[in-house]
Amino acid sequence: MRLLTASKGLRSPQKPLISAIRCQHRSYNAAVIGGGITGLTAAWQLIQDRECSSVTIYEKSRRLGGWLQSETIPVEGGEVVFEYGPRTLRSAMPASLPLLYLVSNLGLFDELITTSKRSPAALNRYIYYPDHLVRLPTPDPDLSLMENARNIFRTITTEPLFEGFITGLLSEPNKPARPQEEWAIDESLAEFITRRFNRKIADNLVSAVMHGIYADNIDEMSAQAIMGPLRNLEDGGILFGLLIKSIMGKKTRSMDDFLAVDAVYKTPETMQRLDEINRVVKTASTFTFKRGTQQLVEGLTRALRASEKVRLVMDADILALDPPANRGHKLKIYTGIRGEESFDHVISAISAPAMARILDPQGQVKIDCDPEDEYRALWNSKKARHPKPNIGTVSGLHFFRHATTVMVVNLYYKTPNLLPVDGFGYLIPRSIPYEQNPECGLGVIFASASSSGESPVAPYPKVSQDSAPGTKITIMFGGHYWDGWKKQDYPDHKTAVRMAKDMLERHLGITEPPALVRTRLQENAIPKYKPPHIHQIYALSRWAKEEYHNRLVLVGNSFSGVGVGDCVRQGIMAATHGVGRHKLTATPRLESKDWCPWKEYNYQHWDLKGGVPTAPVRLFESDI
Ligand SMILES: Cc1cc2nc3c(=O)[nH]c(=O)nc-3n(C[C@H](O)[C@H](O)[C@H](O)COP(=O)(O)OP(=O)(O)OC[C@H]3O[C@@H](n4cnc5c(N)ncnc54)[C@H](O)[C@@H]3O)c2cc1C
Repeated sequence: MRLLTASKGLRSPQKPLISAIRCQHRSYNAAVIGGGITGLTAAWQLIQDRECSSVTIYEKSRRLGGWLQSETIPVEGGEVVFEYGPRTLRSAMPASLPLLYLVSNLGLFDELITTSKRSPAALNRYIYYPDHLVRLPTPDPDLSLMENARNIFRTITTEPLFEGFITGLLSEPNKPARPQEEWAIDESLAEFITRRFNRKIADNLVSAVMHGIYADNIDEMSAQAIMGPLRNLEDGGILFGLLIKSIMGKKTRSMDDFLAVDAVYKTPETMQRLDEINRVVKTASTFTFKRGTQQLVEGLTRALRASEKVRLVMDADILALDPPANRGHKLKIYTGIRGEESFDHVISAISAPAMARILDPQGQVKIDCDPEDEYRALWNSKKARHPKPNIGTVSGLHFFRHATTVMVVNLYYKTPNLLPVDGFGYLIPRSIPYEQNPECGLGVIFASASSSGESPVAPYPKVSQDSAPGTKITIMFGGHYWDGWKKQDYPDHKTAVRMAKDMLERHLGITEPPALVRTRLQENAIPKYKPPHIHQIYALSRWAKEEYHNRLVLVGNSFSGVGVGDCVRQGIMAATHGVGRHKLTATPRLESKDWCPWKEYNYQHWDLKGGVPTAPVRLFESDI
């Protein structure tokens, strides 16, 4: 004790003290529920920790990877790779760093395909409105400033898609900001954009972009969760705020991204690759794998199977997970075949409703109940004699129960360059007339373009997923348009193929029959981020910490982002901060002090162990 309180001058250098503290840590065992990308990442990070004695992964199905599903199919003249889940991984500073470090740690860096920010797939993104493709105005690096300005002005003033765009932008700075108390209450994206700009911008532009990421309806999406950085600028006017930030070179960043970059394990090979990794982040708009995102799952699985610490339980049937009777007790997982197993930490990496079923198998906690009221009622009833229940955590999880279903249709045509335009693909806004979208299409990906690019390793040769010549297209249908549908309402394979062909003929004039088609209905695949999403995350986290004595960690795409990069970040956060095994310091582990943004806050008091591991300061202004 005296040593800890000794003045700085008397203290021996920091290192021995830290290792002395570390030595006091007991070894621990952990369970990870769910073998999707979040769970596999968490398990991989856990086994890097010397104190972690074993990791048990429970996966309900017979395959690992969750929504990451790729298939390589032989066709005439070569092979094509179809993706049934994620395909393009966003490259952004610093959000994609944990994923890129993981890729490199697994020895998969050479397997990446990067799409340059200057390529047509990055520059040419379209919205279909009202009956044709409109290229979103992006400066073309091959044109002069004047030529770009003229092109952008022409598009914005002549295309019906941009009706109301200029007036919406010009009127924004004069719109009063909401009073602080009102502003603090979350609202829908549609409300926010309409309030600050106008309805047309919300319906035509924002709804299209959200179809491409969340497949959801902007009337039901949380503005704070999805456009927090913009919403924070409301006080002085959003456009003015953006201008000032760009002059000052500031960007709004997520604290969790920095926490994950700090915590993610980096092999010596990865440390040697930092320049190459930074180059990808700076020059690429997206990246993927030569044989599809499944390669990431295979890499993780290989590494996990090679570790003596890991036990993989497939076809797992978790019946229940009880809250511990007191702080010193481990968490108990009950399975059908294996019976009862105890763990120091449990990381849940499954959807919120699936976890709610495990924590409350009898379904006793009512949906939308107020946990405080329920506890009071319990206290006044005889049930109070039973061990402390988990009403707060279960009811908190119930909030995140909604998700959209999408039908993914992959098509391959023998003819190369079949598309009328070059680019990434197009999105369909909710304002599109019914006659142009009776199939409930969300967007079309020109998959040949998005799955080819260059290797991230010098001399950066051109690479493509497909060895067969031809054109690959992916269409996504459904999303929020199918909310409330029953199983029997969804299109079957034959119907989905017909819908795809009809749509491509109407929108792009494609009449050639595809040489290969695969469809996949992905049910409840993309979680809905309803308002007040962020508030509910902190509330759930508090309950879970309390009821499970900081031993239960909740991550996955239900909470802090649906992208693969977001899931990897959450997996890293869970296996480090979430299990109390990463200490924040004010000394940068990477190049500069900007990589420790927490030191501007009272980070010594941040409690990141258990619950949803996320910083109490969500966003901050950064020079990076
Ligand atoms: C069609 C589609 C396209 C997408 N496109 C992109 C894209 O281009 N780019 C991008 O970045 N992201 C994309 N995403 C999003 C991204 O793929 C997902 O958000 C991410 O893969 C979720 O990973 P996860 O591990 O959190 O969850 P999941 O993948 O759902 O994994 C959860 C795992 O837990 C298992 N499980 C469930 N219940 C239990 C239980 N009770 N016990 C044990 N195990 C259980 C499941 O079988 C599954 O394996 C897309 C998603 C979909 C569906």
